[in-house]
Amino acid sequence: MDDFECIRCGFCCHLDVKLTENDIQRLKAAGKKDFSKQTDHGIFLKHIGNHCIFLDPKKKMCKVYDSRPDICRRFPVHSDGEMSGKCQQDRRFGSRISRKIIGFIAMERENQLKPK
Ligand code: SF4
Repeated sequence: MDDFECIRCGFCCHLDVKLTENDIQRLKAAGKKDFSKQTDHGIFLKHIGNHCIFLDPKKKMCKVYDSRPDICRRFPVHSDGEMSGKCQQDRRFGSRISRKIIGFIAMERENQLKPK
């Protein structure tokens, strides 16, 4: 975990996020409404298209970062301390240097897309 560095690819915000009661209360306290859906497997964050409703897909940022669910705070580490195999960027680009380069390229691309 020491060498893990999030490159803000947004991949994990396309996965299903199961909510705890604490998560729901925290998001409600932050003024959020209509963000969850009941399924046979529990209560999950809703998606818009193929990503979480709280993901800003352009900035690849969480719009409720301070109130985000516990599982988002821990990702990509499971409760048993193991790294999730679902963090594709971290697995595919195994070295810290590769991740830094990719993060730099993503930042440059975003800067190019900004209106001048
Ligand atoms: S709550 Fe935030 S961190 Fe969690 S999946 Fe949604 S956008 Fe991503």
